[in-house]
Amino acid sequence: MRYIDFHIDTLMKWVSDKESKELASNIDLWTNNYHVDIERLIKSKYAAQFFACFICLGEDPIFKQNHYDDAIKSIDIFHKQLTKNPEKIAFAGSYQDYLNNMNNNKLSAFLTVEEGGIIDGKIDRIDELFSKGVRAITLTWNYENCIGYPNTEYKYKDNGLKPFGIEVVEKMDDLGVIIDVSHLSDAGFYDVHKHSKRPFLATHSNSRTVCDHSRNLTDEMVKMLANKGGMTGINFAGSFLQEDGPSTIDAMIKHMRHLVNIGGLEVVGLGTDLDGIGGELEINSAEKIHMLSEAMEKSGFTTTEIEAICYKNAEAFFKRFWS
Ligand SMILES: [Zn+2]
Repeated sequence: MRYIDFHIDTLMKWVSDKESKELASNIDLWTNNYHVDIERLIKSKYAAQFFACFICLGEDPIFKQNHYDDAIKSIDIFHKQLTKNPEKIAFAGSYQDYLNNMNNNKLSAFLTVEEGGIIDGKIDRIDELFSKGVRAITLTWNYENCIGYPNTEYKYKDNGLKPFGIEVVEKMDDLGVIIDVSHLSDAGFYDVHKHSKRPFLATHSNSRTVCDHSRNLTDEMVKMLANKGGMTGINFAGSFLQEDGPSTIDAMIKHMRHLVNIGGLEVVGLGTDLDGIGGELEINSAEKIHMLSEAMEKSGFTTTEIEAICYKNAEAFFKRFWS
């Protein structure tokens, strides 16, 4: 089985060395003790991994006030790490890149930004981020920003995109940067659906019907996402999988079943959020991802369905989005 994962936060580890409160710029993406490293992705036969450059706009002492500069540093680290072994992994910025990498037996590495607020009202920064390889932007994290509002505890549920946010959506559409609505307010989701001409992603969100959490999608949203040719990635965070429950494979499968029933097979993918989540995780390493496809098989998913959810739906999304 191959796998495509829309969201991990491993790249964030370079700024999260809480002990020293220093930038841990020596982060090793190849081999480390976190949830994900490139060696394990290759061992588990991943076809593609989205690496999120996460930036916190809040009071976190690790993140300096220069959010945009921190993001650029993070992006530079990402590219430098890929060059360590260009035979095994390569940047992907399009469907064609993905196919070329696949044909050359290389893992595709996509680059994303989690926190659109880093552009700080400057639309040209999206061009710059694109030129540096960014191919998806999570419009908000858990703070209000220049684009819109987060869905943290439904506080801003009915607040849509700001006028600048609509400009951002149009710019991302023009350039071919995927809009990621995970973390976004409900009204923001509807605005993206209304204003974007392209399919979009919720890179790491589950079903709100199965687990009532503001970070998850309602059935209506899942249908709207599917109608646009978009997808949502199953998030492994315990609190998004089951209320008061740990992160179990059984719960992941419940979400998959429901999402397929509501939005169709094509709407479901993976967005593990590994290295961005804590707590008790049944799958706490990219090395264990096979446990998910094996459990899907045991629970009655057909091979076609398992392949679709694990990677073929994402492949088809790349094709729809970039060609
Ligand atoms: Zn997130």
